[in-house]
Amino acid sequence: MQAIKNYLKSLLLWELIQGLRVTGRHLFRRKITVQYPEEKTPLSPRFRGLHALRRYPNGEERCIACKLCEAVCPAVAITIESEEREDGTRRTTRYDIDLTKCIFCGFCEESCPVDSIVETRIFEYHGEARGDLLMTKERLLEVGDLMEQEIAKDRAADAMYR
Ligand code: SF4
Ligand code: SF4
Repeated sequence: MQAIKNYLKSLLLWELIQGLRVTGRHLFRRKITVQYPEEKTPLSPRFRGLHALRRYPNGEERCIACKLCEAVCPAVAITIESEEREDGTRRTTRYDIDLTKCIFCGFCEESCPVDSIVETRIFEYHGEARGDLLMTKERLLEVGDLMEQEIAKDRAADAMYR
């Protein structure tokens, strides 16, 4: 009986008709293709893009060189060197993130006790020369200064998850 059914189905091109039904159902629906880069999809406040180092409103670096982020990084992508300043506080003299190693897991920002290292919504970047994807402290602070408003807004928006 099943064999006859299958024979009739194949004779009547049943699978083809089923496929055309699916195509027909979607033919006149609103198109959802995004015309990137002119159009972009919304990003979560917890999006994990390019890293940044933040400052306090008075311009002081937040990072206290505790090295928690360096210790927690599973890709060993962070390198920190530090020294004590004259006022007794400790700050980094070197803070590098090798983006060719980074897996954008977000552990560094989760571990930071002073909300210093964060991941921004920037994802459109690339490197052309050797070293372009090595984020130095200066470059990280530059990104932080540039994106501070958005970073602060995103941190406030997802405060309930932290
Ligand atoms: S996002 Fe993850 S892999 Fe990248 S630097 Fe931070 S801890 Fe390391
Ligand atoms: S970025 Fe945060 S976790 Fe990393 S060394 Fe600085 S204060 Fe510590």
